[in-house]
This record gives sequence, C-alpha cells and structure tokens, in this order.
Amino acid sequence: MVSQSVLNTSTILLITASVFLYYLRNRKTLQREIDTTNMKTIVVLGGSFAGVSTAHRILKKTPDVKITLVSPDTHIFWNLAGPRAIVPDGFADEKIFAPFAPGFKQYGDRYQFVLGTAESLDIQGKKVVVATPAGQSVVLEYDAVILATGSRTADDVPYKSKGSFEKTRDTLHEFQEKVKKAESIVIGGGGSTGVETAGEIAYQYGSTKKITLVTNSPTLLTTTPPSVQSTAQKQLTALKVDIILKTKVDSHQVLPSGQTELTLSSGDKLLTDLYLPTTGLVPNSSYVPDKLKNAGGYVLVDEYLHAQGTTDVWVVGDVSSVQRAQYVNTEKQATHVAKNIGLVLSGKPAVKYSTGGGDMLACPTGKKTGTGHFGSFKLPSFMVNMVKGKTYFTQNLPGIANGTAF
Ligand SMILES: Cc1cc2nc3c(=O)[nH]c(=O)nc-3n(C[C@H](O)[C@H](O)[C@H](O)COP(=O)(O)OP(=O)(O)OC[C@H]3O[C@@H](n4cnc5c(N)ncnc54)[C@H](O)[C@@H]3O)c2cc1C
Repeated sequence: MVSQSVLNTSTILLITASVFLYYLRNRKTLQREIDTTNMKTIVVLGGSFAGVSTAHRILKKTPDVKITLVSPDTHIFWNLAGPRAIVPDGFADEKIFAPFAPGFKQYGDRYQFVLGTAESLDIQGKKVVVATPAGQSVVLEYDAVILATGSRTADDVPYKSKGSFEKTRDTLHEFQEKVKKAESIVIGGGGSTGVETAGEIAYQYGSTKKITLVTNSPTLLTTTPPSVQSTAQKQLTALKVDIILKTKVDSHQVLPSGQTELTLSSGDKLLTDLYLPTTGLVPNSSYVPDKLKNAGGYVLVDEYLHAQGTTDVWVVGDVSSVQRAQYVNTEKQATHVAKNIGLVLSGKPAVKYSTGGGDMLACPTGKKTGTGHFGSFKLPSFMVNMVKGKTYFTQNLPGIANGTAF
C-alpha cells in the first residue's frame, strides 16, 4: 500500500517535471502558437522612449492584446547624452544606441514591427497609413493607436533621430569629427542642452579651442532659481567659455571657406568654424489631422491623455501638448497610458492624469561640475555630477530597450 502510493507520487513528480521541462524548452514556440486573431490590436507610432516603453508596459500587464510598433528607427537613441556624445570619445555607440527588436521577442506573435513612418491617421476609419523605406504604403487598422512620434531638432544637430538609426549614428560621427577639427565653436542657446554642450566641449577643449555661448536671454537656464543660473555661468566661465547674453543669433550661413557667419541681434557678425544651435524642437505630427493639434503642432490631449475628442487615440511623450518635452514626463505619461489602456480593455473607466510633481533639472557642465535644482532646492555640484554627470543615465538604456525595466 505504502510502496504503491510512493510509486504514484514519484510518477506524478516525473510527469510534472517532464511537462515543465518540455514547457521550458518550447516556451517560445508555444507563445508563438497563441491564437492572436481575436486579440485587440494596438498600433504604436514611434520607436523611442515613449513608444518602446509604453509597448512593453502594455504587453507585460495586459493579456489579449497585440501590438504593432511602427518606427523608422530600429534602435533607441539615448539623446539625453547628446551633449557629451557630440565630443569625440564622449560615449561609445553601444552606450547610446540600443536595438529594441531582441527585447520584444519574448512576446512572440503578440508583437510585430513595421519599419516605416506614419503618413496619415484616419480617426473615423481607425487606420494609419505607413510609408516604408522601400516606397510602399502599408495600411494598419487598429482598435487603439498610441501617438509617440516625439520631436526633431529645428536645426541640423544630432540630438534627435535623423530618420533612421544609421543616419543618426552617422550624423553624430560627422559632428564628432567637426568638433575635433574646429578651432572655434559657437553654441546657440542657454537652456540645459546649450549649457551642457558648452560644458562638455569646453571641459575637453577649453584651453585649445575658442568656445562661445550666445543666448538671447539675460541669464543661462532662465527657468531655474537665480542661484542655479549664476552657478551655471560661473562654471562655464571657469571652463573658459565666453558667454554672450541678451543677444539673438538672427541668422547663420556657411561660407565657401567652410566657416559659418552668424549675424547677431546686436548687428555684430561672428565667424566660427562650427555653429551648434541647441534651441527649438519641432513635433513630428504632420500625419495627425489639424483639428487634433495646437498652433505649434503638438497634439492636444484630454485629462486621460486621449487625443482631444477621441477615445481610442492616446498620446505619449514629446509630441503631446500636455507637458514640457522631458524624458521624466514621457515616463510618467507612458505608465499612465499603459494603465488606462488596460483599464479600458477590461471594461473599467480610464483614470485622470496629473501633471503635478516637483520641477527639476540636473545640468552637468563637463565631467566634474554641474548645477540644478529640485523645486526650490538647489542641487550641489557634486550631486549633479554623481547623479547625471558621470554617465548621463546611459546605464538605463539596456533595460528600456530589452524590457527588463518594466
Ligand atoms: C539633447 C537633449 C538632452 C535631453 N536631456 C534630458 C534630460 O536630461 N532629462 C529629461 O527629462 N529630458 C531630457 N531630454 C528630453 C527627452 O530626450 C525627450 O523628452 C524624449 O526624447 C522624448 O521621447 P519620445 O519617445 O517622446 O520622442 P523622441 O525621442 O523624439 O522619439 C520619437 C520617435 O518617433 C519616431 N518617429 C518620428 N516620426 C514618426 C512617424 N511619423 N511615424 C513613426 N515614427 C516616427 C522617431 O524616429 C523616433 O524614433 C533631452 C532632449 C534632448 C534633445
């Protein structure tokens, strides 16, 4: 009797272990065999922080949905590190570009990728037309669509996608060469990107190249407390950056010599080997119907982060009008939209988004110093250096691309 029950128990254990081993060996195939025909289709437009992170969050938390991600980029570009990446040897490519395809393999047939650019959005018909690099048009139907197409730089600087991973990487390499060769460099703009760029270049070359920062504002980092503004100015001056305040760059033109001539609002002309304008982002929203956008081209949203007047179009990241174009805001919006989609698909009401939370900025000025604030609290230089100045948060990129961060 006893030996019979031991036999039964060991047989059951053996069968269970075999089934488990079979599952482990074949789980990828089994996942692919999941029937996705009746699943809701979510189309995500944009393959950067907003699109990739929202897609992972939905696929992990909401069963019975499949996602089609559309992007001209195959890699996430860690553009937060742009100001240091523009300096030769600032960052290796692998630190700032990460492919996102491997991270989505875990979802089997619930995920597919279309390399291309959204060209038009049909709100009534629930369709997106995508142009592929081969010149074809692909029509994607959706149950819900997420607009996460971000923004691009107004001028030709490698701080945002240039239309593909290869183009962005190659443009960045070109600029690294230009920075290396230039004897004089003018940075346009005194916001955080301008201050960081001036700091990084001057940290490396302050004693061998002439570095100038021109801004039309009366201070650097105008949106920060006055003590942060003056610290930024002191730190850049210590790195030998010439700062020209209250002066706008009215126009710039490249001369036959290869140098750039800047015409300043003071009437003066400034000749430089390299001009790096850091102001101005343009939303990537040409495919969005005009009635959904504000005058600047940003997509208007309601309190749930739907595009205004819609219930199945969601908006995340820089392309949204809801908040300043910041990575931290993108993260918050991505989490919220993923949660709301889960709620709505399970028949529950969506919840409202709150834009609250302390305003903060951490602005390195080279590899040793920096300034910033959290609300009205000024961050000491060593803290900015420790938190952001050492790595520009590049250590977070792999987890975002492969999905382990969510
Ligand atoms: C130099 C620099 C430094 C920064 N530093 C900080 C910082 O320190 N802290 C912080 O909080 N924020 C920072 N930011 C802001 C932060 O980088 C952005 O908020 C973030 O990039 C927004 O991500 P996104 O996915 O919305 O847009 P993006 O990064 O702009 O990505 C949009 C993606 O959509 C794709 N796309 C474009 N058009 C289409 C289309 N029609 N169809 C399909 N895909 C399309 C693009 O190719 C791209 O892959 C910085 C920005 C810059 C430029």
